[in-house]
Amino acid sequence: MTQTGSAGADVPAPTPAESSGRHRVVVVGSGFGGLFGTKALRRSDVDVTMVAKTTHHLFQPLLYQVATGILSEGEIAPPTREVLSRQGNAKVLLGEVTDIDLERRLVTSQVLGRETVSAYDSLIVAAGAGQSYFGNDHFAEFAPGMKSIDDALELRGRIFGAFEMAELGATRGEDVDHLLTFVVVGAGPTGVEMAGQIAELAHRTLRRDFRAINTRTARVVLVDAAGQVLPPFGAKLGEKTKKELEKLGVEVKLGAMVTDVDERGLDMKHRDGTVERIESVCKIWAAGVQASPLARTLSEQTGAPLDRAGRIGVNPDLTLPGHPEVFVVGDMIALDNLPGVAQVAIQGAKYAAKEIDGRIKGKPSQPPFKYFDKGSMATISRFRAVAMIGKLRLTGFIAWLMWLAVHLVYITGFKNRVTAVLHWFVSFLGRGRSERTATEQQIFARSALSRLERGAQDLVERRSSPVAGRGASAASHETPPALLEVARHRVRLLAGDPLPRPPRQDEEPLGLDGDTVGADQVAAAPRLVVLRPLDPRLTAQVAERRALPVGQRQRGRHPRPTAGAG
Ligand SMILES: Cc1cc2nc3c(=O)[nH]c(=O)nc-3n(C[C@H](O)[C@H](O)[C@H](O)COP(=O)(O)OP(=O)(O)OC[C@H]3O[C@@H](n4cnc5c(N)ncnc54)[C@H](O)[C@@H]3O)c2cc1C
Repeated sequence: MTQTGSAGADVPAPTPAESSGRHRVVVVGSGFGGLFGTKALRRSDVDVTMVAKTTHHLFQPLLYQVATGILSEGEIAPPTREVLSRQGNAKVLLGEVTDIDLERRLVTSQVLGRETVSAYDSLIVAAGAGQSYFGNDHFAEFAPGMKSIDDALELRGRIFGAFEMAELGATRGEDVDHLLTFVVVGAGPTGVEMAGQIAELAHRTLRRDFRAINTRTARVVLVDAAGQVLPPFGAKLGEKTKKELEKLGVEVKLGAMVTDVDERGLDMKHRDGTVERIESVCKIWAAGVQASPLARTLSEQTGAPLDRAGRIGVNPDLTLPGHPEVFVVGDMIALDNLPGVAQVAIQGAKYAAKEIDGRIKGKPSQPPFKYFDKGSMATISRFRAVAMIGKLRLTGFIAWLMWLAVHLVYITGFKNRVTAVLHWFVSFLGRGRSERTATEQQIFARSALSRLERGAQDLVERRSSPVAGRGASAASHETPPALLEVARHRVRLLAGDPLPRPPRQDEEPLGLDGDTVGADQVAAAPRLVVLRPLDPRLTAQVAERRALPVGQRQRGRHPRPTAGAG
């Protein structure tokens, strides 16, 4: 059903031998739409391939609890492979979908330079949405969004790290107000939940943990350009939520448009034209979404319109114009002003799965997709939430209990439900946070990678320019050798070198898992091959092994170099 080749190669049609002859369904994404769509096909006479760029299913509504140390990432992101392990007609494929060819019915995905092409008879696209900075993408470096596990762990590191840096600064007698000021941009459910949790951390959880600072003096500011908190919940619940947040010590600034963000703070413009700057090291972006770029890919091939958030207009049965075999569901679609919530994705995916199953069985088509609104809720702090179910409006403890029950039902897996309840006990009844661990890499890796990407791009440009030699030597002068080596590998990837160079006698090639791989594998490998300088003591042995014909080489016969070798 699938074919793998090297990136950039012509896309071959999948070979018939790979097909079982059954109807092939490809599902893009392992979020709410992707996972529930795949599960809904478990009894159908189809082969399902789920292609997703992460190996987990992410329960986004609880990301803020990972960021604030209540839950672990594993509790809200179980491996998709494990979730679907008992579903015999489904397989999981890791890869970022880079192209969908509607004419030839092929989905192309990539992971680390390896390209896979999956053929389909029916397709469900549920690639969701990412963060939008409304055209100011440079804000992202200083104000991370909250869409993925990476984001939540980075924010965890930044939030707890800000308190640590404030303690250090205060010990030296420095002004630490900018370190003890947290700004959350966007007063939707995510922003409200984040602001509430940071306030609880500062005023309750951490208050006894530091010596030089009083965490209760921390400032938590919630900013939004809109005139109310939680706009979809209506004016009354919005006002109630604002008051609850203020009771917790959160400053709520409405009608304030963020105009710039930098390392040390952010600027905003109020409706009356006044400009305000807040000095804050830890900023969190919880405003705005942008649909997956795959919506554009599909729009270009069908003429289906895109809205301002990049969401694609679909037919009332969630299919694309002229392509009844392609369904698009969840956050990617613009249909009847449906909100970007989990239930829209889940119900849409189940509808698409039922339609595919019905077609195979020769049943008539279903009536157009109709979303059943089961209600919305948002937590403000422990024991405080707001809920809107039909005409019912609930606030306070009852709403919070409902929130607890609903989230428990939707967390995937029994094991995760049990541990989540334990962690909630620790945090809500006690004062603790079970998941405060943060590493340096969590905090800095995203920025470092994006800088590296820019650096590598720069190197590629220099390489292909007439002054390549000069540029390259300048780069090696400025960049630490290890970083330069990584950049060189990235250059190879970006430049699309056909094959890596063969290892020299004093180098050994490493596989992705860090194990030594043979020269024959290097020759067959896609573009990224990591070469490690060899322990000089081993050079002779490797040379000897390489001198033998390929079939007679035994891998792993020479001892592993000791730590520090290379
Ligand atoms: C912080 C936060 C809090 C939220 N809180 C709530 C809440 O309380 N209640 C509620 O109802 N909704 C909430 N939502 C919204 C809800 O999570 C989304 O509406 C829902 O996840 C949409 O489902 P989806 O399947 O369309 O997309 P997603 O669940 O986002 O899934 C998209 C999937 O596609 C994959 N993917 C993306 N691009 C590619 C690609 N090119 N190739 C391969 N795979 C790809 C992703 O890895 C992911 O697996 C929240 C969202 C966030 C971010």
